[in-house]
Amino acid sequence: MLRRGAWYPIVDETDDGKVVIEVRKKPVRVSRIDVAVRESPPDRWSIVVRTGLLRPTLGGREGEEVTTTYAVCPQCQERQDFSGKPDALKCLRCKAESQVDWSEIC
Ligand SMILES: [Zn+2]
Repeated sequence: MLRRGAWYPIVDETDDGKVVIEVRKKPVRVSRIDVAVRESPPDRWSIVVRTGLLRPTLGGREGEEVTTTYAVCPQCQERQDFSGKPDALKCLRCKAESQVDWSEIC
């Protein structure tokens, strides 16, 4: 189960198109269309792009739009910054080097 670049185990599926995933040991019901369901965990880095407004507390100008891009390690789900468009990344946390999946931007 892929959701915002992180993987969660599916614990249940309902007839009305919802799936129940486990997030931090708690069951969370989500719509099937909101998440990407895959047969097996990825072996490549997932790229996640988020656009949001800067809050003043983050040191930016209020209302300024920022784009946050990060890669998610397929092995340990660590979020890692990167620059450019690398073919592969090495995780600083688990030391695993994996290909980057550019075909699917979350
Ligand atoms: Zn890792």
